[in-house]
Amino acid sequence: MQDYISIAEKNNVVLLDKGVCQFCGANTTRGVHECVEIFSLGFQSIDYSKKENHSYRFLSVDAHTLQHPEIHGRWNNHFHLLRLHLIFIYKTHWNYQLSPKLSDHLNAYKVNKPDEFSIPPEIYQRGSITTTDIIARSNDEDKCKKMIKKWAEEVYQAWNDYHTLIDEIAKDFSKKHLF
Ligand SMILES: [Zn+2]
Repeated sequence: MQDYISIAEKNNVVLLDKGVCQFCGANTTRGVHECVEIFSLGFQSIDYSKKENHSYRFLSVDAHTLQHPEIHGRWNNHFHLLRLHLIFIYKTHWNYQLSPKLSDHLNAYKVNKPDEFSIPPEIYQRGSITTTDIIARSNDEDKCKKMIKKWAEEVYQAWNDYHTLIDEIAKDFSKKHLF
């Protein structure tokens, strides 16, 4: 995430350093920078060294990335939406081994799609839950986990224009790697 500033520059997006997060609407005072900081520190109550907690890491990375596509590369939307689709719709128990496989799958897919761009939902309309809501619950592990799941579900729904497209890619991926 360190180079999000240069990615924004490359995307011709000016980052504001005051007020709420200009992308997700998180209740910050230093804008997107604070939003990225909260996210990068993780949410303290969750011990990510435990395998059963890994899914909350995946869900929060997907949710945050899809709320902030302006500070990520073009194909990141596909990757994170695909992973949420595989988790929520295909009920995949995601693990760290599957992520590079999904990356490779997407790399092969995009070779033939030079003109495929995804247009993000409007700013502030990418799910109502944001980093500041999660951090406010970070001292209660159970509440924090529930909210991360809801966060990812809301963001996934906000991108519903792309569910059909993503399902085609997911179908292909699941045939090769999940069954
Ligand atoms: Zn934000």
